[in-house]
Amino acid sequence: MDRPEKRARLDETRHVGGSCPSYAQPTRSKTVWYQDGSIVLETESVRFRVHYSILAQNSPIFQDMMNFAEPHGEEYVDNCPVVMLQDSANDLESLLRALYEQSYFDPSHSQPFSLISAVYRLARKYGMEYLQSRALCYLTDQYPKTIEAWDERKFRVEKYPGLVVDVINLARAHDIPEILPAAFYDCVSTYNVTQIIRGVLPHPRNNYRTVRLAQDDQNIAILGLEQLIKSAAYQTFDWAIPNEPFPTCSDPGECTDVFAKITAEYWTPTPRCVALLPWQSKWEDMLCEDCTLAARPNHEINRRSVWDDLPTYFELKAW
Ligand SMILES: [Zn+2]
Repeated sequence: MDRPEKRARLDETRHVGGSCPSYAQPTRSKTVWYQDGSIVLETESVRFRVHYSILAQNSPIFQDMMNFAEPHGEEYVDNCPVVMLQDSANDLESLLRALYEQSYFDPSHSQPFSLISAVYRLARKYGMEYLQSRALCYLTDQYPKTIEAWDERKFRVEKYPGLVVDVINLARAHDIPEILPAAFYDCVSTYNVTQIIRGVLPHPRNNYRTVRLAQDDQNIAILGLEQLIKSAAYQTFDWAIPNEPFPTCSDPGECTDVFAKITAEYWTPTPRCVALLPWQSKWEDMLCEDCTLAARPNHEINRRSVWDDLPTYFELKAW
């Protein structure tokens, strides 16, 4: 693009000792400062020197930004116009590094949620579709839409206490409904009602935050959990709950004990959320062959049925 006539360059120390002591002096990013850059982005008093052409190529919003920024631009740094943004400096650094450094946001490795979230939110904001979809893949791989993908689930987000709560909150705030059914299921099968209500307590690995769902989502999670516990009993495990062997059973005494053992494992002292639990080979080792042949298809069909209805447990639109 044509560069406008250069304006008077302002001293970068303009705020030092001035009348606005709360306004920090801008500093240069240690990671995103390209000497041949042509534009400086500034937010939270951190400056990033990048290339207008790279930004424009990847983002229609940035493409327009120069047109928007110039009439209001007040200063240059190293002959680069400064564009003021309103994002967090950490988020913007994540976005720009993901854009510039191939190894930084490498899809072959799991990534921290904070990075995925920052790239997703800012890529969406600035219309950077490639980075947005790349960030989204981390989430859809971990919180998929099919039971086959769920069973072969790829854990691509680095784990920490409260991760799935942060995932749900991100999905709600930034319109990612496709990951919500699996994320809610993960939430209610990971955390108990106390944790859902009071939040997942501060921990070094969640940056000492209490991670909590919004009030409405707490209610949705608890009601969904209650229904899923019923579905586990009356659908997925309906072959085991009555503690009665199948009519074809070749060892009723032994299999009755096994059914009781299985239900005790998942229902006492408090019921666990196991409505989607796949058939376990250890059950086959304990049951007679005839009961296995009868129970296994029953279990698989019924848990698939639960999966098909999963969105409705959490008041979400059907798959
Ligand atoms: Zn049997």
